[in-house]
Amino acid sequence: MPPESSTKQEVIVQGIPASQGIAYGQVFVYIQSNVEVPSYEVDPQKRLEEIARFERALVITRQQITKIKNEVEKNIGPEEALIFDAHLMVLEDQALIGETIREFEATGRNIETCFNKVSLRYIQAFSEIDDEYLRERAGDLRDVAQRVLQNLLGQAENSLSRLADRRVVVANDISPSDSASIDRSAALAIVTDSGSKTSHAVIVARSMKVPAVVGVRDLSGRVQPGDWVIVDGYDGLVILNPSESTLFRYGKIREQRQSVETRLLEANRQPAVTRDGVRVTLMANIEKVDEVQLVRDYNAAGIGLFRTEYLYLNSSRIPSEAEQAVAYRTVVEALAPHPVIIRTLDLGGDKPMAGNPGLFPKESNPFMGFRAIRFCLEHTDLFKDQLRAILAASAHGKVRIMYPMISGAEELARANAVLDECKAELAGKGTAFDPELEVGTMIEIPSAAATADLLARQCHFFSIGTNDLIQYLLAIDRVNDRIAHLYEPTHPAVLRTLRQVVEEAHRQKIEVSVCGEMAGDPVLAPLLLGLGVDSLSMTPPLIPAVRFLIRAMTMKDARALAKEALGMASPKDIYARCLAFYNERAKLE
Ligand code: PEP
Ligand code: MG
Repeated sequence: MPPESSTKQEVIVQGIPASQGIAYGQVFVYIQSNVEVPSYEVDPQKRLEEIARFERALVITRQQITKIKNEVEKNIGPEEALIFDAHLMVLEDQALIGETIREFEATGRNIETCFNKVSLRYIQAFSEIDDEYLRERAGDLRDVAQRVLQNLLGQAENSLSRLADRRVVVANDISPSDSASIDRSAALAIVTDSGSKTSHAVIVARSMKVPAVVGVRDLSGRVQPGDWVIVDGYDGLVILNPSESTLFRYGKIREQRQSVETRLLEANRQPAVTRDGVRVTLMANIEKVDEVQLVRDYNAAGIGLFRTEYLYLNSSRIPSEAEQAVAYRTVVEALAPHPVIIRTLDLGGDKPMAGNPGLFPKESNPFMGFRAIRFCLEHTDLFKDQLRAILAASAHGKVRIMYPMISGAEELARANAVLDECKAELAGKGTAFDPELEVGTMIEIPSAAATADLLARQCHFFSIGTNDLIQYLLAIDRVNDRIAHLYEPTHPAVLRTLRQVVEEAHRQKIEVSVCGEMAGDPVLAPLLLGLGVDSLSMTPPLIPAVRFLIRAMTMKDARALAKEALGMASPKDIYARCLAFYNERAKLE
């Protein structure tokens, strides 16, 4: 840790610990919002100047886009750079430019106001068109319009994908698509005003091993770019302008933590077997194709959850069947013979597809809205593209399919029927796929848990998504920091539901895993195993601590822990009991 300390007053802010680790660095403030457009009347004498200002902004925007296009072409590839041609075409659109100038001449309002009004009208019109290609142009138009507005208003580019130096990102919020584009080598830590442990930006931070603290309320408005901060992702603290003695103390803490992590990593090559000889399957959750390397590095027994929506989130374009097939095949081949559970699209909720407002109109209650399997069963064309791509990948390794947000047996039957259609289509074309491919259901809606017996008849395995299951069972929005303290994985309702799902699965001889964040918490993993869960799937960097605990406990004790917990009433007492169980065993020699 460098020795800098500040003459400013030290301020300690308590947030929610979201991704472990300690970082020290300078702040980069990221405000996620649409550009705010001021509106005023332009002096009639200055009308020509106003139009010249518009033209200059268009030229600067063109230069910026061309530069990004060249970088992408060089570093990623010509195909990926094509999207920027579409952006450049928007800038040349005479209808858009001409209409903006006509609006300006008619109203005399500043050019930002006129451009914003006209571009919003176009975005709306495009997003409602019943043609996929044209609908996608709405996303391009939105991106370009934001850029033009920023240039008109003299705002610097504020992109997480191009952090200049290594910085601590402090933001009001980070959307999943923002988080997917963060430059991982430059983000020292992430701090957000809102959010919770299970918001997707946090899940991504954990997989990147970037320390994160969320729920710090209005911190992004109080820090200045360049301020020095310590981020303590273990205890959820952000220390602004740390004093010399704080820096010294954190230097020591960081050393100790690093030494623990090194030893956990050394022990991570051992099998995940309890002291009484029960082997536990530890799988990995991934969001992006390049994370397969992490899966190997952390010695996972395969992928228990591939969140495929991340292939879509960062783009204003839906990836084609062929593009998806390449992505899935890359992952499957890299991990063969280990299994890869590919979850079908779970867009919506806190993962809207920003570049496609036509497909995902704004909803007042997105977590209960048009997301995941509900979306797929209405857009069967897109669903079938994905299913065929997964089926094609199944010829190259061990693939399983899993549907998110299933609410009952009819929905599962409909999804399976679409899958059967896809199989028939591929068979007709002579495309190879695994005819034995297994299908799983995520149990993350209370109605699915309540009808687990009916669902088990139509699938080969269950995977419990505790992130959503807890939010729906307890009616606690999983990304709302205001009520994050009420989001309690050890609530008796959660434990009883888990027990019931596990019992039903085992009665019908199917396996059940947990792939929500609870599975990667070494304090809670023994409780899940004691309840009878067969395997756990988690963000790869969390595997070593969970494996260590499994090797330090007996399954007999874990079952006793679960039995005791099921007899208790208070979530806090249950958590304290799990923590005691953990502390008794988590001792590195
Ligand atoms: C879950 O809900 O627990 C889950 C694993 O899915 P996601 O976090 O992607 O909603
Ligand atoms: Mg979920």
